[in-house]
Amino acid sequence: MSEKYDVIVLGGGPAGYVAAIRCAQLGLKTACIEQWINKQGKPALGGTCLNVGCIPSKALLESSQIYADAAKGLSSHGIEISGVRADVPTMISGKDKIVQELTGGIEHLFRANKIHWIQGSGSLLPERQIEVTDIDSGKSRFQADNIILATGSRPIEISAVPLHSDRIVDSAGALDWESVPQKLCVIGAGVIGLELGSVWRRLGSEVVVLEAQDTFLPMVDRQIAKDALRQFGRQGLDIKLGARVMASTVNEGVALEYTDKNGEQQLQVDRVIVAVGRRPNIDQLTLPEADLLIDERGLVHVNDNCETNIPGIWAIGDLVRGPMLAHKGSEEGVAVAERIAGKHCHLNYDAIPSVIYTHPEISWVGKTEEQLKEEGRAYKSGVFPFAASGRAKAMRDTGGMVKILADEASDELLGMHIIGGHSSELIGHGVMAIEFQGTSEDIARSVFAHPTLSEAIHEAALAADGRAIHIPNKKRS
Ligand code: FAD
Ligand code: NAD
Repeated sequence: MSEKYDVIVLGGGPAGYVAAIRCAQLGLKTACIEQWINKQGKPALGGTCLNVGCIPSKALLESSQIYADAAKGLSSHGIEISGVRADVPTMISGKDKIVQELTGGIEHLFRANKIHWIQGSGSLLPERQIEVTDIDSGKSRFQADNIILATGSRPIEISAVPLHSDRIVDSAGALDWESVPQKLCVIGAGVIGLELGSVWRRLGSEVVVLEAQDTFLPMVDRQIAKDALRQFGRQGLDIKLGARVMASTVNEGVALEYTDKNGEQQLQVDRVIVAVGRRPNIDQLTLPEADLLIDERGLVHVNDNCETNIPGIWAIGDLVRGPMLAHKGSEEGVAVAERIAGKHCHLNYDAIPSVIYTHPEISWVGKTEEQLKEEGRAYKSGVFPFAASGRAKAMRDTGGMVKILADEASDELLGMHIIGGHSSELIGHGVMAIEFQGTSEDIARSVFAHPTLSEAIHEAALAADGRAIHIPNKKRS
């Protein structure tokens, strides 16, 4: 006889563990099945995000930026430091400690909320049952009124560049190197490629990024992407667009063959990071008898409420349509838990922010200028450069800008795009304004503390109406 729950969540990443906590808060008898074994050989919650994604990458981005600033960036402040040295093994063990603390924190939250963590690998069966194979190969069955699928995603591999222990790694492998490669190739100039390429560039690698597409960061507003490409180039990230890798050979390092607009090219590097996207973990969900509908991109098909084609089976996070972002999965988890408990809830997919944690950081919410043009929507825009911000000058960090897009007639905020230091902490202003259906005038009439970076948002909103104070305006209101 299988044990019965109100809800079983399959997968304990940021989508699954948040769903489980919210279900338990709402009084539902909840279990979460998670199979992850961490670097220390212990079962762990937190999924990709906490173990090998958001958190460890940000830990290394912080450490490497502080090293780069100390090594060459502080003379503008009148600070000279000599003998700066990167102790990479200590950076890696510091990152591991943060991961262990945070994943242990989720375990604690599960205990506090009386969520049963079933350790092992789950497979979906008909009749809302799940079979779990645990670490010792024992099999057990569990049943629930509702099952939330949250098995996440994993890196895509490419046949031209198969992974090879320490030489050719995916994003997880590149978070564990204890020495700095002299010459590094990153395949894919997406979010992971740029973030991890930045980490190793800051620590001293010569970095070449090979990107198959001709367009740099196609999902980003063009004006912002153009500025980013220029700033990354100045930092020494050699980003080659339209570069298709054809073959790789492991020798004392790795020899790569690729083609670009000039024909066939060769590249010899010490190590390679493959960062060409991620694909959903559906292998154990598509048992023929479970009859789960998978869409043409290999994602679990869901409607706007995250319901699959099978009643009582829900799916959230990287497994389903929408951006592969931790906060998107978590909010879907909350929404599904509340729907199961009979509450009304709403997730505004138009107000989900994205951030690329390079330096400068690139953050955005809502529509890009190109999307608005394509929709034929009349809009106005306001741009304010950080070069005119007193706070950015004090920080000696004046690259980038804030760009605001608003409806021409109603003035409703449609998009906010920021490239600049700490923009991840600023984009929340845009999220709130879009969520509250605010206007650029609402932002222009709000008082921002001086001197702060957020004043650039205020000025960009004023600029949309031709009345910015600290830059000359192109038009008058
Ligand atoms: P996952 O986090 O992948 O979790 C799924 C869990 O399900 C895993 O723990 C897995 O072990 C488990 N599982 C899978 N199959 C089974 C099974 N059959 N039985 C039991 N358990 C199973 N996003 C951001 O928003 N911000 C960032 O800064 C950011 N940085 C990133 C950096 C890197 C290097 C990477 C790789 C990703 C990053 N992401 C970031 C993306 C983010 O990690 C994912 O969007 C997020 O983790 C998705 O959450 P999820 O719960 O859907 O899936
Ligand atoms: P991505 O889709 O962002 O970028 C992959 C890039 O690789 C694309 O530009 C693509 O054109 C290129 N590419 C594909 N095949 C190629 C090939 N054969 N040769 C050269 N280039 C090729 O994917 P990613 O960077 O792997 O990240 C995966 C997901 O993880 C993203 O969707 C992102 O949302 C999420 N993530 C988010 C953050 C963040 O929020 N800061 C950080 C890391 C990852």
